[in-house]
Amino acid sequence: MSVLADKVIQCASCNTEFNFSVEEQEFYESKGFQPPRKCKPCRDTAKQNRGGGYSNFNRFGDRPQRQMYPAVCSGCGIETQVPFQPNGSKPVYCRECYQSSY
Ligand SMILES: [Zn+2]
Ligand SMILES: [Zn+2]
Repeated sequence: MSVLADKVIQCASCNTEFNFSVEEQEFYESKGFQPPRKCKPCRDTAKQNRGGGYSNFNRFGDRPQRQMYPAVCSGCGIETQVPFQPNGSKPVYCRECYQSSY
């Protein structure tokens, strides 16, 4: 019987080193899973992307979520979100219009 110990794994996505605890190792082994190659935030992000939804719920506070405000793009008129409160005096652009304005 091998004695398990916490392992440190380097995330394949963001290169952060994270702890793969004994409990997690046992859990993964009991399920027959391979050890994770990505840290928890990256796995959560991948999960969210797979689900197609862009929900900010149930984030674990690993990264402070930027407050976003709904706005309508002055360039193309689509609904978008901006990291500041639109006050109506300045045009607001969606990401695409913002980038193409440079
Ligand atoms: Zn990562
Ligand atoms: Zn636009």
